[in-house]
Amino acid sequence: MGRRIGIFGGTFDPIHVGHLVAAVNARQALGLDRVVLMVSNVPWQKAGTRAVSTAEDRLAMVEAAVGGVPGLEAGRLEIDRGGESYTADTLAQLHAESPGDALFLIVGWDVAGELDTWERSDELRRLATLVVVNRPGVVRPRRLDEEGWRVEEVPVPNLEISSTDLRARARDGRPLDYLIPRAAIRCIRDRGLYAGDG
Ligand code: ATP
Ligand code: MG
Repeated sequence: MGRRIGIFGGTFDPIHVGHLVAAVNARQALGLDRVVLMVSNVPWQKAGTRAVSTAEDRLAMVEAAVGGVPGLEAGRLEIDRGGESYTADTLAQLHAESPGDALFLIVGWDVAGELDTWERSDELRRLATLVVVNRPGVVRPRRLDEEGWRVEEVPVPNLEISSTDLRARARDGRPLDYLIPRAAIRCIRDRGLYAGDG
């Protein structure tokens, strides 16, 4: 029997409860065996605009955050592949490794609105069902099923949380508590992340 695998890609700089709440709700709503929080190696959309934490630091935060949560795991495939991270390559690799699995690509509204700018989006359409989760503060994307995607919408609690805001909080010494799981906050402190960001 093929498994049902969710792929939730991100920079996760840092991971926060908005990501985790979306992941567990998508998992339950679609009966996914697991959801992989896939840490991008070099996020091409973000390169050059700000200092991104190292991939290993971002992976460590995700691992800390999902530790002990059934059905969630941190993915290091894009880090191991190296170079720029393209989701089409990731899905192609997962499909080649386990052709019987059904793949579900989970994205928030902001990312869903930009999918047509992604590398080889025709391949993505073929390899995965798109799972769209709502995200407050961004515009609801247009109807993606009209563009040939297989789409599932999963309603999740509206959590107005972003990594951008959390980096500013960390810099200013404002609390991260309850916005980021405790183990991931510990990881931020231990590694001295965000403290000195300009
Ligand atoms: P940044 O502010 O640095 O862009 P982010 O909070 O948007 O960080 P990303 O790593 O860019 O986090 O996002 C990864 C995925 O998680 C994207 O698909 C994004 O839409 C989704 N996502 C992020 N935050 C939320 C949230 N609060 N609710 C629902 N989805 C979210
Ligand atoms: Mg983002």
